[in-house]
Amino acid sequence: MRCVVANWKMNLASEEARSFCEDLLAHFTPSAGTEVGIAPPFTLLHLVSGLMRPKGIMVFGQNGHAEAKGAFTGEVSMPQLRDAGCSGVILGHSERRQFFGETDAALAKKIKAAWQWDLLPLLCIGETLDQRDAGQTLQVLGQQLSILAETGPGPLWVAYEPVWAIGTGRRAEAEQVREAHAFIRAELNRHFAGSEYQVPILYGGSVTPESFPELLGIPEVAGGLVGGASLDPKKFAQLVKQAS
Ligand code: PEP
Repeated sequence: MRCVVANWKMNLASEEARSFCEDLLAHFTPSAGTEVGIAPPFTLLHLVSGLMRPKGIMVFGQNGHAEAKGAFTGEVSMPQLRDAGCSGVILGHSERRQFFGETDAALAKKIKAAWQWDLLPLLCIGETLDQRDAGQTLQVLGQQLSILAETGPGPLWVAYEPVWAIGTGRRAEAEQVREAHAFIRAELNRHFAGSEYQVPILYGGSVTPESFPELLGIPEVAGGLVGGASLDPKKFAQLVKQAS
């Protein structure tokens, strides 16, 4: 199975989102082996899920709180994401780790909460440039995946997103992607040993229609989590076609 997910981050207002969806649908043909998802900001979830879910496109939250409800001003819970039409939730994006203090301990709770509310977690992991330069990449990825020892197995997608490649226009080299994805697969096999769950591993970090075909040819790359290029419906439709 191939997976292509658009992370809109904190971009677009309702009319822009509506015209994106119309444009994407004009250029998009669903294909059996490819899951397509869009992760809009919270304010656009109802609108986007109303337009996209009937066409078989998944909608993801960009974050979700581990508690179902309560005094957590500014947060959105997993049941609220479900209620807004989501079938998945991005967790642990590097911008959340970097700017909002997201910890591995909190992420383990969020994954369990997502499962409780029947949402598919898309867990993002990746090293910073300092960590790569210090030769710590695989150690960092192993640490970030170690929360799966606590959650146990379940439905999951993982995105390998080297932090230094996100929004920078600097895509990781094929060999770096190959090594990271092979390591992630081995760790997933260890944590989910004996379970029925197949976990696709997406690559994220400055994916464009120019770079995506090469990435898709790397073993264990099941698709892409796309930021910048996903704001252009024609480019995003092209990425979906390349994956299909
Ligand atoms: C992302 O936000 O997950 C991402 C990969 O962004 P970009 O494609 O802009 O690097």
